[in-house]
Amino acid sequence: MTTTIYQNIARHLDNLPGGYPATESGVKMLILKRLFTPEEAQFATHLTLIPGKTGGVARRAKMSKEEAARRLEKMARKGLLIRIEEMPGKPAYMAAQYAIGIWEFHVNDLDLELIRDMDEYKPYFFQTAWTKPQLRTIPVSQSIHNELNVMTYERAEALVDDHDCFSISPCICRREKTMVGEGCERPEAYCLGLGIGADYYIKNELGRACEKQEILEALVAANDHALVLQPSDAKEIINVCCCCGCFCAALIELKKVPRPVDWVSSPFIVEAHPDNCEGCETCVDRCQMEALRMVAGKVFLDADCCIGCGLCVTTCPSGSLTLQRKTEAAQSKIPKDIMAAIIALGKARGKLGLPELLKLQAKSKWDRLLAPRGGVQITV
Ligand code: SF4
Ligand code: SF4
Repeated sequence: MTTTIYQNIARHLDNLPGGYPATESGVKMLILKRLFTPEEAQFATHLTLIPGKTGGVARRAKMSKEEAARRLEKMARKGLLIRIEEMPGKPAYMAAQYAIGIWEFHVNDLDLELIRDMDEYKPYFFQTAWTKPQLRTIPVSQSIHNELNVMTYERAEALVDDHDCFSISPCICRREKTMVGEGCERPEAYCLGLGIGADYYIKNELGRACEKQEILEALVAANDHALVLQPSDAKEIINVCCCCGCFCAALIELKKVPRPVDWVSSPFIVEAHPDNCEGCETCVDRCQMEALRMVAGKVFLDADCCIGCGLCVTTCPSGSLTLQRKTEAAQSKIPKDIMAAIIALGKARGKLGLPELLKLQAKSKWDRLLAPRGGVQITV
């Protein structure tokens, strides 16, 4: 009976756009048993990507509204679902995908067993479920030159300017490694929340509120620490991850594919001019994708591995590295907002049925119409 319950929640999570693929070892079931009680696992299968009121969830779960409300609130606090408050005092609840979602919501209650299981599961997860990136790469602004035609949604500072609520929280990848004694020198708190993303993290105590200035300073520091800027794969974003190639699960897995340049959602690539190179090797140390090396004392770029982050550009003393925009055909289409990104991901995985797709698209348009009057607020 208990096994069936966990098989059902595993199938439910795998049918969400982010996926939850099977493994030969069965580690995915171990993870679910660590995160969900059997009661919670069974109940979670009644949630969908369309936010629903307590009464609707209670009907689907065949229980009283009071009991459903109790479970929903408890599971929201445990980071097992998403609670949205479209109007004050009127919460709605939706399914959280496993990653990005449930996993990241556990940044503050990790334990060594969960970290060990996740380390085993991550390669399966990324190789099977990430048919489309959930994050994109934008260049550090110090690498952008005047001739580069950069859109506002490709500039970190312009993306920050779109918001008035901000949070900073620990990076879950770096926290995991710190807990097992493998942390790198870089600061831990480099997960930046914006707008409804910040609001959610603050109210669920996953991160602390901060001023816009602190976010802008974090972006400058990200370049200093050679961290790749990875916002949501949408034009209107809710977060920016600042990632190193040693611990970021997404970058580690990206380095394993034959041609990361084809897979990453980034409009830029670096062009190298070895004739000017002074051979200092600073760029080799800063590149998180191992795309640069020295050949006969001059820089050599493996363009297949470049993700256009610009980190090598900003410290080159000879101007031998410049960012270029890829050809139109080589650039990924960027979804308008998070809902459109989820829909695109679900379509890419073939996991959204037509009825749910139509409802999500209608909801996305409705939320945009409501936005000038306050829109959707995610709260606890
Ligand atoms: S070569 Fe490396 S550091 Fe430079 S832009 Fe490409 S991925 Fe970033
Ligand atoms: S940072 Fe510039 S000068 Fe130094 S090795 Fe790289 S390309 Fe050459």
